[in-house]
Amino acid sequence: MKLASRINRLSESLTIAISTRAKELKASGKDVIIFSAGEPDFDTAEAAKNAVIEAMAKGCGKYTPIPGTAEILNAVALKLKRDNGLDYKPSQIITNVGAKHSLFNIFSCLIDDGDEVIVPAPFWVTYPEIVKFCGGKPVIIDTKPENKYKITASELKAAITPRTKALSLCSPSNPAGAVYSKDELIAIAEVLKGTDIAVIADEIYEKIIFDKEFVACASISEDMFNRTITVNGLSKCGAMPGWRFGYTACANDELNKAMKKLQSQSTSNISSIVQAGAVAVLEGKADEYIAMMNKEYQKRRDYAVDAINAIEGLSVVKPDGAFYLFINCAKVEKDSMKFCTKLLDEALVATVPGVGFGMDEHFRISYACSMDEIKEGIARIAEFVKNYK
Ligand code: PMP
Ligand code: GLU
Repeated sequence: MKLASRINRLSESLTIAISTRAKELKASGKDVIIFSAGEPDFDTAEAAKNAVIEAMAKGCGKYTPIPGTAEILNAVALKLKRDNGLDYKPSQIITNVGAKHSLFNIFSCLIDDGDEVIVPAPFWVTYPEIVKFCGGKPVIIDTKPENKYKITASELKAAITPRTKALSLCSPSNPAGAVYSKDELIAIAEVLKGTDIAVIADEIYEKIIFDKEFVACASISEDMFNRTITVNGLSKCGAMPGWRFGYTACANDELNKAMKKLQSQSTSNISSIVQAGAVAVLEGKADEYIAMMNKEYQKRRDYAVDAINAIEGLSVVKPDGAFYLFINCAKVEKDSMKFCTKLLDEALVATVPGVGFGMDEHFRISYACSMDEIKEGIARIAEFVKNYK
């Protein structure tokens, strides 16, 4: 069977492939430390579970409107106002099957053959792949550790061409945990002023942030509000990755209409049950639980950063958010795929090679696992690096 050429432009998600292999090894009895999965180790908040049970008892098994029920759209709009100072109307919001689906819809509706999308590296594995699937060309800007892996306004300016359609911006970022400050976003906004470039702002790690203020991209100015498509969800901050709840907020009516049309012919509405559970979290019923998880992540980050930097040959920039460390291993091994493969085979620690995030000579660990696992996993990495051949 000859497959469509568009599917051959796409590679499989490396983060998912490695985590699947690690989980299989663990299930087969191997003592694997899984640092590869980008998912919270915490269980979903009780508030969300209770809301679902209540909704099901009342019977909520019918189709809902394509973007979501009035309750969920209001809850998202209120959350965006309360937490981020954003004035989206409920009609400008669409709920999706996870934030990955939000991104898929946005790029599908925006990108034509040959359109360029600027993607700062290290990037989350999925951005360039969806862009390529849609016929676009990812234009990668390498960021620097001394800038905490963030693009600067001048780097952005230099990457813009007449074909630039969008900028993909993630804050706090996966994999480097980079958080853009208000001033940095203002400088980016200044470069974009007067262009037709859209900003796809992935803010899914919004609430996993340490000693920094989260600033939503769309909150910078009216101009930024109009050009930004805000992507968020509950997979990370709500510890609900399996629920598949994401959303898109967009002030552009034409794009909104297009995304609703696409969703009407693909997934239709997201699960009515998931919508009911998400309302409770967005209304703030899990806020204490979210704050508790954040504190825990911060403790783990602080331990893990010091422990990694104490290993000769490895270095990591302290991240300001998300739950990953993006570790430089160039002094030990420049080929990150080789490094991570050997680390898994020889020391039974699963990590993700930087090459998948567009930056070789690095690897990513997720510290969304217990402190005991973090200690044991890093001790194994230290031993592995010491004896590296
Ligand atoms: N954006 C980033 C930066 C992510 O790390 C992830 C994790 N999968 C997603 C989006 C997608 O989230 P979801 O699981 O809600 O699809
Ligand atoms: N976002 C997570 C990660 O980066 C989950 C896996 C995925 O969807 O890529 O590992």
